[in-house]
Amino acid sequence: MSLLTVKNLTKSYKKDKLAVNEVSFQLNKGECLGLVGESGCGKSTLARCLLRIEPVDSGSIILDNVAVERLNENQLQPYRRKIQIVLQNPAAALNPKLKIKDSLIDAYSQYQKDLELVHFSYTSREAFVKQLMEAVELPSSLANQYPHELSGGQRQRVTIARAISIEPELIVLDEPTASLDVISQGAVLGLLTGLRKNLNLSYLFISHDLAAVHQMSQRIIVMKDGKLVDQFSNDQLFADERHPYTKNLIDIF
Ligand code: ADP
Ligand code: MG
Repeated sequence: MSLLTVKNLTKSYKKDKLAVNEVSFQLNKGECLGLVGESGCGKSTLARCLLRIEPVDSGSIILDNVAVERLNENQLQPYRRKIQIVLQNPAAALNPKLKIKDSLIDAYSQYQKDLELVHFSYTSREAFVKQLMEAVELPSSLANQYPHELSGGQRQRVTIARAISIEPELIVLDEPTASLDVISQGAVLGLLTGLRKNLNLSYLFISHDLAAVHQMSQRIIVMKDGKLVDQFSNDQLFADERHPYTKNLIDIF
């Protein structure tokens, strides 16, 4: 079943250069869809358009059967709850002045009135924070610390905890492990896969790293210069009919 349908999505920052050029794809409920392509091909722009952080020029974004590309800020409120993003740099994503527990409660407080949590329960602030810390496999004691006291991997787990705290339908993961060392990368990717299954989440997993995308995803889409050039199920990555550009990416990894 399709959760997200993107049709002919187009976005330019400057005249004559399209950062995202007529991109169309579907993302099914429960799946991890991988989006791969080299730096500058438009992946983050696409992500920001989906989150409605960036206005689109044309095309449509349909989530749960609702066209959201032109909704105003008021109309967007229920949508904002359904889609969350995890970015490359967790240090920038967390407020340095807030203790981890206060950052964790932040997203929840914003959407509280519309939320019906299924996997977590909000009996008290402390209990909620503890459930989230456990879900991302961090010791609860870290909740009383500040972001700069945590490692990069721990900070990324906190941003993931914050994203799942409101039980969204879809999480856009924009190079979530690019700033981490190889060991933390593997651990965070493993954690994300477990969370997707346990919490019934869907992911758009964005990376320039084809190996990571291959490890994480059921289906893969490939972008080049703003355009979608290839899409296939993960087990067809090495098939003959792959686009020459995809084959080129395989040669590199
Ligand atoms: P990726 O995430 O794949 O590296 P981006 O979406 O960040 O690609 O960038 C796509 C293109 O859009 C690049 O040419 C980039 O320079 C340009 N771009 C990205 N963000 C902006 C912006 N805020 N203003 C102007 N140009 C931008
Ligand atoms: Mg990017």
